[in-house]
Amino acid sequence: MVTALVLEEKGKLSLRDFPLDQSLGPADVRIAIRTVGVCGSDVHYYTHGKIGPFVVKEPMVLGHEAAGVVLETGSDVRNLKVGDRVCMEPGIPDPTSRASKLGIYNVDPAVRFWATPPVHGCLTPEVIHPAAFTYRLPDQVSFADGAMVEPFAIGMQSALRARIQPGDIAVVTGAGPIGMMTALAALAGGCAKVIVADLAQPKLDIIGAYAGIETVNIRQRPAAEVVAEATNGWGADVVFECSGAAPAILGLPALARPGGALVLVGMPVEPVPVDIVGMQAKELRVETVFRYANIYDRAIALIAAGKVDLKPLISATVPFADSIAAFDRAVEARETDVKIQISMPAD
Ligand SMILES: [Zn+2]
Repeated sequence: MVTALVLEEKGKLSLRDFPLDQSLGPADVRIAIRTVGVCGSDVHYYTHGKIGPFVVKEPMVLGHEAAGVVLETGSDVRNLKVGDRVCMEPGIPDPTSRASKLGIYNVDPAVRFWATPPVHGCLTPEVIHPAAFTYRLPDQVSFADGAMVEPFAIGMQSALRARIQPGDIAVVTGAGPIGMMTALAALAGGCAKVIVADLAQPKLDIIGAYAGIETVNIRQRPAAEVVAEATNGWGADVVFECSGAAPAILGLPALARPGGALVLVGMPVEPVPVDIVGMQAKELRVETVFRYANIYDRAIALIAAGKVDLKPLISATVPFADSIAAFDRAVEARETDVKIQISMPAD
């Protein structure tokens, strides 16, 4: 038995012994977990007991944004060795599936994703993971950075889907953690400027502190007005929707330039209206994003190169023993918090 942070049912967490399969297959590695980020999806399972079709029916271990140290390698593992510092991709596809063969394993219907019922997550001292989805961290990338690779990968996937060209001007609607990651990925991907729109000033202050990012508080001014001003009335080359909010989604065409791109990243809880004619009148290209595929190496390379610094987005680091308090703080959704991380004792 191992200690784990267990979501017993909606609204009830406990830190307790939990039976997890810890047997090491030939292509697996055993990893000592060092840092785990608390994600909006973990919090949503805690507060609502489900996300869309995924319902918590039995106790489930939470956590999917993790970094750690390799403790043991399976007999077939060649890319990693004991002592390597690593981060892990939480979705494990079936490598023989049609989606995997196409390189779009993020939409493999058979993918097993940490802390998505009924699959257990990684808020436990040791995990077993396929070596093929475990990535070595360069020395200059900390465990805290390593645990940020997962949410940053969504920003990276969004930037790739946008097909950014050097000098593009982008807009991000929604300054939650994913909006911030997307803005930073868009800058690293070649955007000259990224305008981030939200109604929470503390969030805008955090992301607005980065060079190349401008912010607009939509309580004070419409985003479309600021974008028009910044682009001589032409509109943004790329608009990333990261809020999932119905009014933002309806207003997307007004932000884009003719022939621009809309990238839908945020997930509305319910179906929302979309201005199709507004999109047609500018022949906008619409892209959707679901998780990420083949992104981790790129994300780690950008962090290691110093082109992306995610440290300012880590708001608090809480010891594993206080995990439940960390989750309760995340539930509060303080406007000054971006990412709360849980750290494991290094013994
Ligand atoms: Zn996450």
